[in-house]
Amino acid sequence: MTQKVLIFTDLDGSLLDHFSYSFSQAESLLSLLNEVEVPVIPVTSKTRAELTALRVELESHHPFVVENGAAVFIPENYFPTPPSDSDRVDDYFCCQFSKPRDHWIELLGEQLSAFGGEFETFTSMGVAGIQASTGLSASAAQLANQREFSEPVKWLGTDERKQLFVETLRQQGATVLQGGRFLHVTGACNKGKALQWLKQQYADSAPDSSFLAIAAGDSYNDIDMLQVADCALVIRSPVHEPPPLEHSNLYLSSQTGPAGWVEGVSWFLGAAGRPADMNSIEYLRKKLRSQCYG
Ligand SMILES: [Mg+2]
Repeated sequence: MTQKVLIFTDLDGSLLDHFSYSFSQAESLLSLLNEVEVPVIPVTSKTRAELTALRVELESHHPFVVENGAAVFIPENYFPTPPSDSDRVDDYFCCQFSKPRDHWIELLGEQLSAFGGEFETFTSMGVAGIQASTGLSASAAQLANQREFSEPVKWLGTDERKQLFVETLRQQGATVLQGGRFLHVTGACNKGKALQWLKQQYADSAPDSSFLAIAAGDSYNDIDMLQVADCALVIRSPVHEPPPLEHSNLYLSSQTGPAGWVEGVSWFLGAAGRPADMNSIEYLRKKLRSQCYG
């Protein structure tokens, strides 16, 4: 059996720098992974519209997971046969784990009688309001607003009322994730479920191979994904503590953001004979070429 590696990665604060959103420190390793055909799969809270632009920069032709695990998009013709449980959406096969955004907007509308004036949504704020709340440019705010499976909520009331609000939504079938600035209202999805489903698609497409999943993330919303991966890479953050995680194959980076990403991915890939300089791209090139990772 051939052993193949899949890298599932969070973006903000992991592959992308928390402050500058740059991935320049990871560029050499990314091009090496491309060369040896190890897929790097974004698993993010971002929208498909935001990913579309970023995939061009990353020169990625691999599948990706959007809106915190709400849907997996697989480019058409990526696998020899269409993946299971998926629908054609534009140039992709899409497997969705959540009801569409409209459902969540409607559910939030129903909360106005009890919680009116205590919350705003992306829909009620509009692009200008999203910009004001996030500091994004108008075009970036517009891409962030192109949500398909979830609705971000800005809570304006007290913490006590927020708990009641969240509980009310949960009782009506919503999953409510606390992000940095917003509550994300979506379906029964998470990054871990998306990883497991997509890994299975790879396994089904190549029955003679075994797949090793490395997952990289820096926050609470990455825990589900890190937990179900074979190798869990926790990227240290410059602004918060690492998420608590118990895992038999865990690496906590000493560096932050993309530098920590390179450190940890190199560590896992080179684990059988770690070089003194763990970030040595040349060492990894030789190692990966001598094994059947491709
Ligand atoms: Mg993150």
